[in-house]
Amino acid sequence: MKDAPLYLRPRVDPPLASLLGDAPFLHSLVDALGSPLNVLLPEVVAENAERFRSVYRRHHLAGRVYFAHKANRSSALVRRLAACDPAAVGIDVASLEELRHALSCGFTGDRVMATGPKDAEFLWLAARTGATVNADSVAELDQLAAIVRQYALPRTDVLVRLSGFESDPEPGGTGTRVLSRRSRFGTPVAEADRLWTALERHADSVQLVGLAYHLDTTGLEEKSRALERCVLLMDECRARGFAPRAVDIGGGFGVGYVQDAGEWERWTTALSEAVLGTRPPLTWRGHGYGLRNEAGTVRGAAALYPAHRPTAGPGYLDALLSGPAPVLGRSPATLLLEHLHDLYVEPGRALVDQCGLSLARVLEVRPLGDGADRYLVRLGMNAGDVSLEEHGVLVDPVLLPREGREPADGGPGDGREPADDGPVGVHLVGNLCLEADLITRRLVFLPRTPRPGDLLAFVNTAGYVMDFHAHHAQRQPSARTVAVTEEDGARRWCPDENYWPLTHPQGASA
Ligand SMILES: *Cc1c(COP(=O)(O)O)cnc(C)c1O
Repeated sequence: MKDAPLYLRPRVDPPLASLLGDAPFLHSLVDALGSPLNVLLPEVVAENAERFRSVYRRHHLAGRVYFAHKANRSSALVRRLAACDPAAVGIDVASLEELRHALSCGFTGDRVMATGPKDAEFLWLAARTGATVNADSVAELDQLAAIVRQYALPRTDVLVRLSGFESDPEPGGTGTRVLSRRSRFGTPVAEADRLWTALERHADSVQLVGLAYHLDTTGLEEKSRALERCVLLMDECRARGFAPRAVDIGGGFGVGYVQDAGEWERWTTALSEAVLGTRPPLTWRGHGYGLRNEAGTVRGAAALYPAHRPTAGPGYLDALLSGPAPVLGRSPATLLLEHLHDLYVEPGRALVDQCGLSLARVLEVRPLGDGADRYLVRLGMNAGDVSLEEHGVLVDPVLLPREGREPADGGPGDGREPADDGPVGVHLVGNLCLEADLITRRLVFLPRTPRPGDLLAFVNTAGYVMDFHAHHAQRQPSARTVAVTEEDGARRWCPDENYWPLTHPQGASA
């Protein structure tokens, strides 16, 4: 029996669509540089920053967009952002090496926000170069102040990161409900007094410039509540003699990966049916992505990224700023504007939306022999090279046939190649000698059976997917990364590390 294809086709905007349309170019890159290969479009990251900026303008807000560097290791993306308006675009670094990288790519310290877990070296370099330290706790403020004093560093700008935002007590409830999920980062709002005391104690070495949060959720309500709470806490800070000016609402604006809402609906419905056993499995060995069958009822929550998102990225920021705030009623944008607060955002995934893709060569296509006309497709990459599963992101790759091997031309086959050129269900497996090395546990439908030599393009992988989990297990090569630009209508590429935001690189004169 053959399944009706359950596609989850990717959302592809014009710059990436144009690149995907140039299959010979992409094949030639992989021929030269090997599989896997990451391809980035640095121009798109600047366009995305501009989209975030236009939301600021619409709401008459000042402040900066800080790129959360951890989403991608690329130099090209960071250098392209360094070339943007310094007043508008900064960078959020979460390690000593990310800070060094940002500085070497052209960001001056005053455009840098240091977040995440910090060691003494990270704090020293941040303070030395005039970066803003987004402090996680009282202990971190103590450590930073000690370093500033000991090494006679300039008084350092700090934001304090808050967590544990609470809702109002439920009417008739048992007490206060904590609305934002527990986080290992930040200082609970309930302990804010200890922060103020520490800031007063260290007034000679650190200066409070704002309040921050980063909530790892897509929930608008939760974020809106936190934003409003920060505005109220800013008043409290002013009453205590501080002069903070910015509210930093972190990242988490999200990306829509799947183009079609209907495909996403159909797939998630089919997953539930497969878990119940009323349709054939959709996944390797019946994996349920967190769902399970308990006596004929689907239980559990699917651990999946909401891959189709009607509102994401700058649109999500716009919705957050426009919607009424839960307590004060007015929109968060109005609250910020009335108080003359700057708005800081730290988008990672959303700022690199549509900025790149990951390519893998098809190495082997083997019938699964399960009577369902399915295939194992082995790729020249492993699950670390395109960590879609790790992030629960489900989206189809795009098949780029080897030139001259289009199915329509009926080219020479060796008799062992699949004859059927209709849609086909495949399991994508990686190049490691490991049962668990599946690119995705999902059965993927492709419009036709791939052949060795074809490429699969995983689209929109720049956010966390292309290099966050890359490793050297079994000495398999990890992907090289190239930057692709267009000049005078011609497509050009260079290694990521050779990209600089100049029109004529390599010293060529105009
Ligand atoms: C990871 C992170 C971000 C970016 O989150 P996205 O979901 O990629 O937008 C921003 N700020 C902080 C503090 C983070 O840890």
